[in-house]
Amino acid sequence: MIESQAVIAIDGPSGVGKSTISRKIARALGFTYLDTGAMYRAVGLFLQWNRIDLCDDQAMRTSLAKIQIQLLPGKNEDDDTGVLLNGEDVSGAIRTPEMAMIASKVSANPLVREKLTALQRELGNSGGVVAEGRDTGTVVFPRARFKFFLDARPEERARRRVRQLRMRGETADEQEILEMTLLRDKNDRERAIAPLRQAEDARIIDTTSRSIDEVARLVLEVVLEERTETTDPREDHIQPAG
Ligand code: C5P
Repeated sequence: MIESQAVIAIDGPSGVGKSTISRKIARALGFTYLDTGAMYRAVGLFLQWNRIDLCDDQAMRTSLAKIQIQLLPGKNEDDDTGVLLNGEDVSGAIRTPEMAMIASKVSANPLVREKLTALQRELGNSGGVVAEGRDTGTVVFPRARFKFFLDARPEERARRRVRQLRMRGETADEQEILEMTLLRDKNDRERAIAPLRQAEDARIIDTTSRSIDEVARLVLEVVLEERTETTDPREDHIQPAG
């Protein structure tokens, strides 16, 4: 059985199914789901609303000190994490493709990362957490008991994003979403601090041709398996990405 204080870190690029899978895993284990991307989106929204120049360190410090973020677990399994930004419900406002791009931009800022990494550690400190994002296994919780890196072909990730947006009643152009997905990946992979990359001890799962339920089952199989002997986690690669 998995210990109740364990941290499970799930990272990967956008549109790979991380959020849905992480929510399912958290629910199955009775763990808290920590949506770190929602926090970057909320900070991006605050900085955009207040027209803060990311290069102005003084203004950034003052602004970041004013930001309070509270995560609200979704009521249903399919609900995104809600967010209160200084008490205001911004759950819908942070979930647009534009906010995703802004989050990607602000997430490269060292002051933003410093603040959010500290907050994420505070929330995940006592364990029993499924943390999901880009750097949860490498930077935020480098000693996480389990680490997964989910990947999928960009075209498939863009298709999933389009389907998700259309289900919400929004219009979405597949080519445009693909371009945004590729750009966001590039920003996230190439930034100097906490870039998107798999932790050396992460298990990689390619989700391109797997359903959400299949991937969630694979992850659960790994975490529920009693592990007494130390193994090289790379031997557990379920399928190399790419
Ligand atoms: O996961 P989500 O799409 O909500 O993340 C939005 C953006 O926030 C990402 O593109 C990434 O730039 C940033 N992010 C990050 N580190 C995390 C989570 C998200 O840099 N741990």
